[in-house]
Formats: sequence, C-alpha cells, structure tokens
Amino acid sequence: MASFYHLYFYRRQRDEDFILKRSFCESCNKTLKFYDLIPIFSYVFNRGRCRYCGAKIGLDKFVLEILSGILAVFVVNKSGVSIYSWLLILEIVVILFIGYIDYATTYIYNVDLLILFVIEIILKIYFRDSIYLSILDSFILGAFFIILYKFSGMMGLGDAMYALVCGFILRDFFELFLFFNISFISCAIISLVLIILKKKNLKSSISFGPYMSFSLILLLILR
Ligand SMILES: [Zn+2]
Repeated sequence: MASFYHLYFYRRQRDEDFILKRSFCESCNKTLKFYDLIPIFSYVFNRGRCRYCGAKIGLDKFVLEILSGILAVFVVNKSGVSIYSWLLILEIVVILFIGYIDYATTYIYNVDLLILFVIEIILKIYFRDSIYLSILDSFILGAFFIILYKFSGMMGLGDAMYALVCGFILRDFFELFLFFNISFISCAIISLVLIILKKKNLKSSISFGPYMSFSLILLLILR
C-alpha cells in the first residue's frame, strides 16, 4: 500500500498514468523488473540505488515503507487479521502520506483528503459507529483552524480542510482533546529543537500537517 501510494503521489505530480504504466527508473528510464520493486528488500539489496544506472533512490521512500510496515504490525497485533485491520492500515497509510506530502511539498491535496474521508465513511458504516459526535468534532476542529487561517495566518487552508477530516475520524470530545494537545505539543517540541539546531528561526513557516498525521495515527493505533 505504501509503495503504491508513493507511486500514485509521484505520478499524479507529473500527470502520468499510475495504473497501467510499468515502473521505471526516473534517471535512465529503464523499465524495472518485479524483483526491483519489492518494498524495503529491493532498496536494501540494491543499496538505495538503481541497479542499471546507479542513480540514488530517495531514502524517504524506504523510511515510509518501513514505517507503514511497523504500523501495520501494530494494528494486526491488536485487532487480528480482519477487514477492519485492513481498512485501518489503509487509512493509516493515507494519513502517513498526507503528513509526508505536506512536509515534502507544503501542500495538502484535496484528493488525498477525499480518499481518507471515503475510507472513514466505509469504516463507520461497516462498524455502525455513531457519527454525530464525529461530525461535531469535525466542525469544532475545522472552525478552530479556519479561524487560525483567517486571522493569524498561522495555518493554511489545506490545514483547515485536513482538520475537518481529522475531526470526522475522531470519535468523541476526549479524542478531540488528545488530538489537539498531541499535535500542538509535538509541533512545539520539534520546532524548538529545529530552532536550537539553527535549522529554522522564529520567522520560518512550518507545515502543520505532519503533526496532525502523527497525532491521528497515535490515537488510531492506541484506541
Ligand atoms: Zn536508473
């Protein structure tokens, strides 16, 4: 799933077909064999490079595949092998990528939010979750971020849209409270570290999406 989502993200940036077109190296254009495409393992065996031209493959691809694998183990360990686990892992992978894409490009794409929203609707219908509190969470969180976006310039509109979907995934006010705290506190800690390391200064802008993703994934796997 993680490997496919990465491909989907890259190809849609370049307006390329992401279903029928075979995988190829972006440097030498060589079509890759199936054994060049095994997540995690191919990266390790080829030492992070293209086997044909030696071009480096981004470490981010490798890290996202490992992280997705670890999170999937967490989910299956807790909920067993079931449709629920499968949907939850899919949802977590999309959340992970929304955070990553925001970090890498500073954009949160509506298409990713729509995919996430649809997965959550399926989960809610399938498990007959009450959606009233979720809708309320969604509006509270969305309204707060839209106010931040309008009046402080701290957040982008993408963050506000993402907050709406995050709120919808949360089940009650306690989860909303935790989500809010974890995302803002983790953002503050990381920003402080980056300022101390002089990678950022007080005027730098930051992407907030990764912290929302972190907070949401933490709540989903510990639920
Ligand atoms: Zn190559």
